[in-house]
Amino acid sequence: MSQPIVVESVAALRAQVRDWRRDGLSIAMVPTMGALHEGHISLVRVALEKADRCVVSIFVNPAQFAPAEDLDKYPRQLARDLDLLAEAKANLAFTPTVGDMYPAGFATRISVGGPSSGLESDFRPTFFDGVATVVAKLLLQATPDRAIFGEKDYQQLCVVRQLCRDLDLPVDIIGAPTVRDRHGLAMSSRNAYLSETELKIARQFNVILRETAVALADGADQAVATAAASRALATAGFDKIDYVEARESLTLAPWRRDRDGRLLAAAWLGKTRLIDNMEISST
Ligand code: AMP
Repeated sequence: MSQPIVVESVAALRAQVRDWRRDGLSIAMVPTMGALHEGHISLVRVALEKADRCVVSIFVNPAQFAPAEDLDKYPRQLARDLDLLAEAKANLAFTPTVGDMYPAGFATRISVGGPSSGLESDFRPTFFDGVATVVAKLLLQATPDRAIFGEKDYQQLCVVRQLCRDLDLPVDIIGAPTVRDRHGLAMSSRNAYLSETELKIARQFNVILRETAVALADGADQAVATAAASRALATAGFDKIDYVEARESLTLAPWRRDRDGRLLAAAWLGKTRLIDNMEISST
């Protein structure tokens, strides 16, 4: 099992990408913050189905964490990540340093409107600027043909699509389905923070959202169904519910019944914030 090539510098990344391009190979990128799990690895598999070579970036991006958030305790486990990437046959791991990504004097922030409004932004107002800035940098550094993002972070996927469209970034953005554990809990690096008791409660998240998405598809009133979902989450043991909202799948505008819908939610268990989402489908 060969380890992926590991590069820290943009120059080394570009040199490798140039070599692959010279050989006529296509490239797909999977941006991550590391602490990899089966959700990330599923994106690597999609990448390798869609392109000849897969670049995975591992970078815990300070720009998307607010001062009170978990930047310092965010799990970092590069050696294990590289083993998982080797198993998945990813070709290159790009592991830039914070100093390389944001050198002294760095002064640009990309702000995406449209799908970034509301939902996460109501609770993490600087989050998507941080995401858009780092994703734009990563895509310009690696210049992949395609980049794969998880539906797990559904609003982020919509924001990245908008970013690439608006800035004419020549990258195909591909969304990949959420990978869940056998209880239906969406895999997340932050699940590692959960105690056994919290984990049991967390497993109710997907169940309540799925039931609510089905009720909405069956014609339930939106305000009534989402309020009932919030109450059900509180009853299940969630400490605080940030939002449960139905939105239009493509634009994230408020959901109208004649459009494809997505139910999105964020809730807290102790100090851990979980997000999840479900398609609202009439089938
Ligand atoms: P992160 O490392 O959390 O920034 O995530 C990196 C990428 O992996 C993002 O595109 C996420 O949406 C995606 N991802 C995270 N968890 C999952 C999951 N359970 N299923 C599918 N994709 C995921």
